[in-house]
Amino acid sequence: MGQTANQSLDISVPKVRREKIPEAEASDLKAEIKELLRRRKALLVAHYYTDEEIQILAEDTGGVVSDSLEMARFGHRSEAKILVVAGVRFMGETAKILNPEKTVLMPEIEANCSLDLGCPPDKFQALCNEHSDRTVVVYANTSVAVKAKADWMVTSGSAVDVISYLRDKGEKILWAPDKYLGDYVQKKTGADMLMWNGSCVVHEEFKARELQNMRRLKPHAAVIAHPESPAGVLCQADYVGSTTGLIDFVKRTEAEEIIVATDKGIFRKMELVGAGKKIIAAPTAGKSATCRSCAECPWMAMNSLIGLRNILRNLEPQITVSKDLAESALLPISRLLDFAESRRQVVFGNNDA
Ligand code: SF4
Repeated sequence: MGQTANQSLDISVPKVRREKIPEAEASDLKAEIKELLRRRKALLVAHYYTDEEIQILAEDTGGVVSDSLEMARFGHRSEAKILVVAGVRFMGETAKILNPEKTVLMPEIEANCSLDLGCPPDKFQALCNEHSDRTVVVYANTSVAVKAKADWMVTSGSAVDVISYLRDKGEKILWAPDKYLGDYVQKKTGADMLMWNGSCVVHEEFKARELQNMRRLKPHAAVIAHPESPAGVLCQADYVGSTTGLIDFVKRTEAEEIIVATDKGIFRKMELVGAGKKIIAAPTAGKSATCRSCAECPWMAMNSLIGLRNILRNLEPQITVSKDLAESALLPISRLLDFAESRRQVVFGNNDA
């Protein structure tokens, strides 16, 4: 692990709670949501980690299921004036920054992210002040206030390229907030990186020793992992990549079984593209297991059919970002977009959580 700059913050993690709705009621809810989306001319964009029924609603109504920046980009390309973002807070904020003229709604405005919560803007500002000689690079999974303090924003699919570029320019990096992704990027690039001590409660729980045991039992299975996972898991993986990259791997691999270290919500897409390949959850149990998430993001799970119906009925509360903050946060985002454009990368297809 590279050098971390601060103590990790104790994040209060909600229990994964899912509404149990009788089938007939769920069916009525889905019909009402479809009608409201149509009547409001609204677009539903959902993250891979949301519940299957929300993903299906997004696909059935002309929306998209994807990673966070593609969600924002898709919304930007659309003529819809109302974007409904089924995901977590920073995704709604990013959508608003990139689409300031549109109304951005979320089924659950309290849905957050341990990386975002674990990097409070005031503490982050203090660290930036202490290390003003470093270029500040933040992951997409941060609040708009933290992005506003950064020189660059990166996604998991673009982080290695951006940090390599900055390393070649002789720049030292202040990285936030995910120490595991930062460590992975540091090992890949050899860059001088000082890291914020944050983590994703979902990916942090994958267990290296138990994964070894699972691999012994399934020697022909491929192992794939999101780079927010600990180094002991990543070093066992046949492929490490972003959510979109992981789905692509499942599609193209010849392995019949694939052990996956990321949120289980993505399994639906993997099973769709995998043509019968068996998708197996990487272990989160075992000695030292806390199972605060058990590979299910508790904040993503807050997105519910009832919340979706209610936000479409009421159109409140909306995601708002002050003009000053939005302008400041747009700078590091635009740098990434320009960088990707200049390198002809398909950055939006290869990014974050
Ligand atoms: S899975 Fe992890 S990184 Fe993604 S939203 Fe949940 S806590 Fe944040």
